[in-house]
Amino acid sequence: MFTRANAPLAPGATIGILGGGQLARMLAEAAARLGLNCHIFSPDQDSCAFDVVRRITQADYEDQDALARFASACDVVTYEFENVPSHTAAFLSQRRLVLPDPRILATTQDRLIEKEFVESLGIATAPYAAAGDAPQLFEAVRKIGLPAILKTRRMGYDGKGQVKLDPNADPAAAWRAVHGAPCILEGFVPYEREVSVVVARGRDGAMQSFDVTANEHRDHILKVSRVPASVPPAVADEAMRIAESIAAAFDYVGVLAVEMFVVRDGDSHRVLVNEVAPRVHNSGHWTIDGCTVSQFEQHIRAVAGWSLAQPLRLGVVEMTNLIGAEANDYAKWLTVPGASLHLYGKGEARPGRKMGHVTRVWPQS
Ligand code: AMP
Repeated sequence: MFTRANAPLAPGATIGILGGGQLARMLAEAAARLGLNCHIFSPDQDSCAFDVVRRITQADYEDQDALARFASACDVVTYEFENVPSHTAAFLSQRRLVLPDPRILATTQDRLIEKEFVESLGIATAPYAAAGDAPQLFEAVRKIGLPAILKTRRMGYDGKGQVKLDPNADPAAAWRAVHGAPCILEGFVPYEREVSVVVARGRDGAMQSFDVTANEHRDHILKVSRVPASVPPAVADEAMRIAESIAAAFDYVGVLAVEMFVVRDGDSHRVLVNEVAPRVHNSGHWTIDGCTVSQFEQHIRAVAGWSLAQPLRLGVVEMTNLIGAEANDYAKWLTVPGASLHLYGKGEARPGRKMGHVTRVWPQS
């Protein structure tokens, strides 16, 4: 059987990655540094991860012949995105060790199940209610109040599948806007700050968290991450405790990110979970240049069965995403002291597309 107790991978072994975007590309780069190979499986012929590996499979996630060949060519399989179709993950699990355990995806692919799971751990979330049809949405509006955000339960990311309901909004119009997809209604959280914690958990259960990151979004897309996050130490400790308890509750192997809202509550603060991402995360990109070990290397170490590193931050760090046409101005970053430029090698700089990022590090004296 394929269990995590299987022997750790030896250098030269091959890690299969489902998905071929920038996260897979950066995972493959980290693996290469450790003498491990990656085999990228993606349906998209323009996958930017294809450019940095020797072994690729370009096939549909439903293509069982291709999946079977992929499984037999890899020593362990992982993924760069949470919307891996469940039957694809199940098919691969019968043939190879897949980490993190794909059963986790059933929870994280559905906002309602995810929120219920987080709550079951005694961890707070934004107020929410199921909105499976129009009458349920009206009921949810009565329960939660407005303003609120209607979110599709499945396949939402970077603000996709979300409709904000202002205090005078017409729930019927919001319902039409989501085209009848099952949703949850979330109370609008008047947060002071958005933060995330990226935590790595090894096959042996050992955990290493990166420092709490403060995130700013623009048009629902992450724009800037800053570390250290300017939050009180008690908030940072609480954010880390939350991320680590979620990782432990999943018996997780790999890197997991938890996005949270920090809300002022009188003289203190409360930390609410917004979203759990069972993968490396954009808010952890700063770790490539700003830390002694990156989130990508930690994920590779974890799935390979290797020990995790203890991350040491190299200074004050700021990561800025280059979105759409912003990447055309890449040259201006080349000479900025302390700046590291990353371009993902994607084709067209469409609006809203993550084309690259810049990390700036100010070393601590
Ligand atoms: P999500 O796709 O759920 O991560 O949402 C994307 C962004 O929308 C978040 O990072 C927040 O900036 C904002 N957002 C999402 N849910 C809420 C909420 N309940 N209250 C306030 N802002 C929210």
